[in-house]
Amino acid sequence: MVDRDSSPPSHLVFTDLDGTLLDHRTYGWKEAAAALEHCRKNGIPVILVSSKTRAEMDVLRRELNLSAPFVSENGGGVFFPQEAFKDAPAGAFPSKIRGQEGSEGLWQWPLGVPYARLVRALSDMRKSLGLSLKGFSEMDVSEISRLTGLDEKSARLAAMREYDEPFIFEGETPDDLRPLHKSAAERGLMVVSGGRFHHLMGNNHKGNAMARIESWYNKQYHLSGHGCIPTIALGDSPNDFPMLLRANFPVLILSERNFPDLEKRIQNLKTTQYPGPKGWNAAILNILSNSKEKADA
Ligand SMILES: [Mg+2]
Repeated sequence: MVDRDSSPPSHLVFTDLDGTLLDHRTYGWKEAAAALEHCRKNGIPVILVSSKTRAEMDVLRRELNLSAPFVSENGGGVFFPQEAFKDAPAGAFPSKIRGQEGSEGLWQWPLGVPYARLVRALSDMRKSLGLSLKGFSEMDVSEISRLTGLDEKSARLAAMREYDEPFIFEGETPDDLRPLHKSAAERGLMVVSGGRFHHLMGNNHKGNAMARIESWYNKQYHLSGHGCIPTIALGDSPNDFPMLLRANFPVLILSERNFPDLEKRIQNLKTTQYPGPKGWNAAILNILSNSKEKADA
């Protein structure tokens, strides 16, 4: 534990994974290594926020050498590795954490709807709407591997769902999705579209999880209002927009998709010049060096 007088991090970084910190096709992140290292050296937490599962993300955050909390399944679960508390001022943990200890040394805030209920709801929706939908729970590991481009070992981790059922839906135009949105809403659920799949989930989203984590950090340093730690959020898909809307420094990572008018909806939005980790790297280094210049001036 560090002492109570330790200064707060200069920023909190909240980031999507696929198509953002990870290359959409190869899942590589090496092009972001310089910015990740910069964050690590400067004590800036990098908080992974993804539609991936806890099992997938726990592997990845170890590979990236990250100890900050992370958010799985579109805001369904927030997980705190034991190391996340090492840097917390005395008393900030564990008493303030609600939830239970995870099976792999993780502490959890469960925010989403349990998976079994989502699987039942998707099946009911298919029957009542007569649509061709197929969820992860109906796919074997090789099919998940084929659709995601993940190897079988990773696909197995991707199938360990807790709060979010990804599904494919044939014949999709934005209009075709309307009955699905309506049917989900009637069940107290929602459908969100990510880069590869649509997702059936509770009314949790990445922005809510981000808000909870922000206040966890700010409380540790007794910060409030304008004194709160500034946030950077990076993403490439509509399921990231609630996070970008909250952030002081919202970053849209370049992808093949266009989001007209997004810059009108999200103040200060910056779009990167490059996709994936290369765009991530440039955006983070740019924001942090501009902030430092301002602070030094
Ligand atoms: Mg993405």
